[in-house]
Amino acid sequence: MTPAPHLALLRAARARIDLDRLAANYEAIASAAGLPVMPVVKSDAYGHGAATVGRALVARGAPRLAVAYVEEAVGLRQSGITVPIVVLAGFAPGQVTVLVQYDLTPVVSTPQTLAALIAHRGGDKRLRAHVKVDTGMGRLGFTTDALVEAALRLRDSGIEVEGLMTHLASADEDATVTARQLDRFDDAIVRLAGRGLRPPLLHACNSAGLAFVRKTHTLVRPGLLVYGVKPRPLSPEIDVKPVMQVSADISLVKDVPVGTRVSYGGRWVAKRPSRIATLPIGYEDGVPRTDRMRDEGAFRVGSGRVPVAGTVCMDLTMVDVTDRPDVVDGSEAVLFGDDPHAWDLAAWAGTTSWEILTSVGSRVPRVYAQGGRIVHVESRYKP
Ligand SMILES: *Cc1c(COP(=O)(O)O)cnc(C)c1O
Repeated sequence: MTPAPHLALLRAARARIDLDRLAANYEAIASAAGLPVMPVVKSDAYGHGAATVGRALVARGAPRLAVAYVEEAVGLRQSGITVPIVVLAGFAPGQVTVLVQYDLTPVVSTPQTLAALIAHRGGDKRLRAHVKVDTGMGRLGFTTDALVEAALRLRDSGIEVEGLMTHLASADEDATVTARQLDRFDDAIVRLAGRGLRPPLLHACNSAGLAFVRKTHTLVRPGLLVYGVKPRPLSPEIDVKPVMQVSADISLVKDVPVGTRVSYGGRWVAKRPSRIATLPIGYEDGVPRTDRMRDEGAFRVGSGRVPVAGTVCMDLTMVDVTDRPDVVDGSEAVLFGDDPHAWDLAAWAGTTSWEILTSVGSRVPRVYAQGGRIVHVESRYKP
């Protein structure tokens, strides 16, 4: 890529976000699910930048968006997004006024937030809420009995019960457990209907859950898959491609003699005359600082991988490019994207792709590409 002039003012590391892939992923999911898709753009759209990603998804036809927290939804509103926004992870009781002010749709999943919403009724704006039943995740959500009670209290208080939802605990691991959860969800739907409550939005399926969508559902809410990364190992058969690629340009390639120690603690020692490249990206930026990353991790330069050499530092990482005479100062090294994949990095880090994506630091500029050119750059620092 030839950097646009303004990119030259930014550090030589970036997360490249491919908006064409984002759109293609969204469409692949929508056609596979056969239901409206509510993309989950919490945690700054899994590190991809919620405002730009949110706008791009709405432009593609996403009828609504989901976030975890109220502040995230307010940020989307302030960036001009007007579609309904569902706040999945609850809200502090004092935030009801913010929900109303920004026309947000809270999920009610605790007695405390139920009471806070009901206490606020009577304002001039009508409130809308989704209620959550705990079918086996063991965190937020009502039992089915308490759910019916909560939904009736909302309705009787003039609050519209627009949705019923649950969350799957093991959709990427265990089809039997998932089926049991979805049975309980279906039961909750029937129980609510028995009391005259038929919320139009019925949703349970995250990315891994897309393999288990039922006829009773009217909406799906994937996150990870929208960003082109499949949950493993029971991944839905949907063709998606990674949206984000994180890379850095080598600051320095140096020749070192046998016995040279590299990085903190001197745990990497040159066994032969070596060429060591220093990259301007470290653990603050999302490079995992684990022993396994040090010993087995790699970046990709051109078409081949180069192994990490020594402990990952806060701002810098070293790689061994002895076998790659083509690698020079300024060569671009990829941390993850198509290859290495987020799941490779997750293995080296002892974590998941969800954590890899959301660990890309906020000081890494986000560079947005569409139609083969850079259309937007987001940076915490404005040079
Ligand atoms: C994060 C989240 C999702 C999306 O999960 P993915 O596994 O990334 O698809 C869906 N629903 C809820 C309640 C969530 O918190």
